[in-house]
Amino acid sequence: MRYVSTRGKAPVLTFDEAMLTGLARDGGLYVPETIPTLTADGIAALGGLSYEETAFRVMRPFVGDAFTDDEFRSAIGKAYEGFGHTARAPLVQLAPNHFLLELFHGPTLAFKDFAMQLIGQLFQIALARSGRRITIVGATSGDTGSAAIEAFRGLDNVDVFILFPEGRVSDVQRRQMTTPSEANVHALAVKGDFDDCQARLKDMFNDFDFRDEVGLAGVNSINWARVLAQVVYYFSAAVSLGAPGRKVSFTVPTGNFGDIFAGYIAKRMGLPIERLVIATNQNDILHRCLTTGRYEMDGVKPSISPSMDIQVSSNFERALFEAYGRDGNAVAQLMEEMKREGGFTVSQGALQALRDLFTSGRVGEDETLETIAATHAATGELICPHTAVGVRVAEAERDAAVPMITLATAHPAKFPDAVEKATGQRPGLPDRMGDLFKRDERVTSVPNDLAALEAVVRERRRT
Ligand SMILES: *Cc1c(COP(=O)(O)O)cnc(C)c1O
Repeated sequence: MRYVSTRGKAPVLTFDEAMLTGLARDGGLYVPETIPTLTADGIAALGGLSYEETAFRVMRPFVGDAFTDDEFRSAIGKAYEGFGHTARAPLVQLAPNHFLLELFHGPTLAFKDFAMQLIGQLFQIALARSGRRITIVGATSGDTGSAAIEAFRGLDNVDVFILFPEGRVSDVQRRQMTTPSEANVHALAVKGDFDDCQARLKDMFNDFDFRDEVGLAGVNSINWARVLAQVVYYFSAAVSLGAPGRKVSFTVPTGNFGDIFAGYIAKRMGLPIERLVIATNQNDILHRCLTTGRYEMDGVKPSISPSMDIQVSSNFERALFEAYGRDGNAVAQLMEEMKREGGFTVSQGALQALRDLFTSGRVGEDETLETIAATHAATGELICPHTAVGVRVAEAERDAAVPMITLATAHPAKFPDAVEKATGQRPGLPDRMGDLFKRDERVTSVPNDLAALEAVVRERRRT
């Protein structure tokens, strides 16, 4: 299996190379050259299997020769053994034919653990084999950072630097990043918003001298291996509800388009998905783009669902690549226009292709709180604000005859203030994290400036 860039001008890579590289050298994102499929029998055979075995069967065709079957199985086993639920991604029923897919039973209580725990294991195998050391730099709106730190803390051949927007993550999110005491972990509070963090990260990748000097590797959802790991739970959930014999739909709270792009891949692999619904908060560039055809930046408005406070939606580039018939030049031109003018218009044909696959909805702050309260009143479940954005859109877009699965992306205890405001109840952290507020914090405040950030990385990383 080979991987090509969405901008068509970077070297073609194998799975492990694409995983270790992150962003392609032409500024694009890696995607598989062809998308493998599972037959209806192959999908039916997933019924009753463990999450781990499902993961192996769904992901195996994408990995090629990069890992042996034994290596890959063992990495999957270790990745999910620390989860607090044996089903790993359990389904909970919310209303007639509406289900929540709980993706928050991993070590940092958000869905990011599904991918990050796995790539932590795969990086270790690949690095041990090559004897390389790497420097991971990640940008986070809150949850990617803690998941990455959890996956790579304490490793000898990896240093981890996480850029997060100062003052714009929840206390639980910040503490998960600032309290690990391992010497290879560095939490950097950037004076700016998430888009600034993500832009500086891309600048680092595009500074080839720096990139090669420090052995830069990326674990943001621009990394194909992360998208791939997320494809698995679309299969496990759909099969639990009767796939391939019965179609299901998914609603996905999204900002960076990573999670829902994984759903698109599942569909392309043959999983019978009726609809993929994009749910955004007030930072609604994706909803506006699908509605109007114009993809236009509009400044981030901080919300109570901060992990989706994003305007530049990185993985949308992968969807555009598909919608433009895999024309890397066309994508490169759109991204140039974006850089120059802050937006672009999607061609009629590509817009139709996107609308055939995705529908979308936007949820404001008050509606998010109302949905947390209404869900609690109706079911007794406490849901996080991101999940609430999904539930709200799912209810509006749902076709009663087709089961709807809304992705529950984080544990309510990660965002206790919003949940308490809506319901009067403050969700508690699971026991295994009980001492989070007693641990010492370690964080470095840095300006939103490429040279300053590179200097910190050069000085702190171990050689
Ligand atoms: C990261 C995150 C999202 C958005 O995920 P995308 O990668 O933008 O699809 C939604 N909810 C939570 C809790 C998150 O951590």
